[in-house]
Amino acid sequence: MKLFRDIIGHQENIHLLQNAISQNQVAHAYLFLGPKGVGKKTTALAFARTLFCSCLTEGDACGHCRCCQQANEGNHPDLHQISPTGSSIKIDQVREIQKIAALKPYQGQRVIFLLEQVETMTPEAANCLLKLLEEPNQEISFILLSTQPHALLSTVVSRCQILSFRALSTAEITRGLKQTLNLGEKEIHLALTLAGGSLGQALKITQDKQLQNIRDETLIIVRNLKKLTLNEICRKAEELAASRDMLAVRLDIILLWYRDILLWQLTRNQELLLNQDYLTLIPEEALFYTPDRLFRIMSKIEQTQRYLNTNVNGRLAIEVLMLNLR
Ligand SMILES: [Zn+2]
Repeated sequence: MKLFRDIIGHQENIHLLQNAISQNQVAHAYLFLGPKGVGKKTTALAFARTLFCSCLTEGDACGHCRCCQQANEGNHPDLHQISPTGSSIKIDQVREIQKIAALKPYQGQRVIFLLEQVETMTPEAANCLLKLLEEPNQEISFILLSTQPHALLSTVVSRCQILSFRALSTAEITRGLKQTLNLGEKEIHLALTLAGGSLGQALKITQDKQLQNIRDETLIIVRNLKKLTLNEICRKAEELAASRDMLAVRLDIILLWYRDILLWQLTRNQELLLNQDYLTLIPEEALFYTPDRLFRIMSKIEQTQRYLNTNVNGRLAIEVLMLNLR
């Protein structure tokens, strides 16, 4: 479990939370908004830990006291983490919160409820939570995490202090990867390419040794599309769609490939390219496209990504895309 000082990025939010603690103005409810994997939960846990710690040093938890150890081991009696069971947070889970909220803190001065993916709450659960948010209580703090503010009840949002978590910069992710793992430049580049400002995602990618191969293989298919017959395209589409999770990754790879080609055409600046190990191939590929065509290709890929987020047939979607790219 991280302390505030170990967190990459989000310094404004961290200062705000530290000030709230030092001025004894911790809010009844916080809503942390931002993309997946950028550090919302890490920050929430560091905040909880700092609130519990019995010997704070410079606005941060000490990491050693009994409270810190309990938080570290995930068994602090006053920290309750709630995440969706199945696909949503349900009314029974919020009723459980209600019961605990009616009691005094077990050990310290405050009970913390950390709710993840609050956008998945059923309407009953959200209304039940709203009642709790409407009754400020010095001894309780809620920290709600969400990637999709538009899916929340506005009445819930208006009860919370909102902290926005932006995607991390390339420099911040690089620092995070170097700090956490001992990585080569090539792996860091690949992780950055695919992570889209999410350190969590970048860490996952770098731990997946297969990914380098998957990218190379995907790009070979893409670059040879013009030579494939219809039958061959059908077969490749079937191969690519075999794993839905991996299909999403492959589409990211393809999108970033065309993005690089476009960027090269527009700027002739190698430093901007994400696929740094393809620097000789990208200018060659760029000869085959107009910028206009590249924009259209990228919007087709994004359209396919949106389709895949609904329940369409993955093989069919990628097949149509491949025909379009050809
Ligand atoms: Zn401590």
